[in-house]
Amino acid sequence: MTKPTALVTGASRGIGRGIALELSKAGYRVAINYASNEVAAQEVLTLITQSGGEGFIVKADIAKASERQSLVQEVLAQFGRLDLLVNNAGVAPTVRADLLDATEESFDRLVSINLKGPYLLTQQIAKQMLKQNKGLSGQRGLIVNITSISAYTASINRGDYCMVKAGLSMMTKLFADRLAEDAINVFEIRPGIIATDMTGAVKAKYDKLILEDGITPIKRWGTPDDVGLAVRAIAENRFPFSTGAILDVDGGFHIRKL
Ligand code: NAP
Repeated sequence: MTKPTALVTGASRGIGRGIALELSKAGYRVAINYASNEVAAQEVLTLITQSGGEGFIVKADIAKASERQSLVQEVLAQFGRLDLLVNNAGVAPTVRADLLDATEESFDRLVSINLKGPYLLTQQIAKQMLKQNKGLSGQRGLIVNITSISAYTASINRGDYCMVKAGLSMMTKLFADRLAEDAINVFEIRPGIIATDMTGAVKAKYDKLILEDGITPIKRWGTPDDVGLAVRAIAENRFPFSTGAILDVDGGFHIRKL
């Protein structure tokens, strides 16, 4: 039987790596996209092939139109169809600057990589999915957007990041509504504080918030596997009557308490 196929953007490190490995365990062939770290991407592929899975690595900056184009072409050339797109690639601001000082450059970078790239990539891939028959999951395709607790939590030292994640959250609703009749379900996963390179620079701050201040009811850092397992449940079509839904993978961070 033909295996289902997935494209995970930013799968060379962190959360994307966790998602790629989990999807491979679920029987998916995985396109491992990366921006520049080929060694890390190759390592993910090696882990997949060593455990009997299949995939390939594909370099593309999702912020660039020509590279998105060649990314989609490469995925279709290798797989013939795409059952699952995971919009995971994303960056934090290079400098955590106060809202009053944050630069236009930082804003443009975050919009390009974290919002415009996923939006235009999804547009392209949704058109491909519309041409496909229903796959093993019973869906013509599935789309998962990795947003963040920052989609609704104000951090005034990285306002640009919060704004683009809020935009990505709206993008989930828009594509979910547009594609529902065509058997393409769209989901948002909101990770909380996850141990990756992105949070490495602020580890001491978050250690205190989690372990001492109890900012999350479940008092531990999240892991890429935590997010990978949530994507896997979607990939295995465990939510066939849900679209536009949000999964909080955040140790309970979103709970308001009194
Ligand atoms: P990370 O460890 O810094 O990894 C980022 C990944 O994205 C890498 O694979 C990187 O590729 C890739 N990437 C960066 N820019 C790209 C571009 N322009 N085109 C294609 N790929 C690109 O980050 P992470 O913590 O795993 O974050 C992954 C996603 O989860 C992001 O969207 C982030 O906003 C979100 N998130 C993270 C946390 C957290 O606490 N870590 C919480 C909530 C949400 P290279 O290896 O080639 O550089």
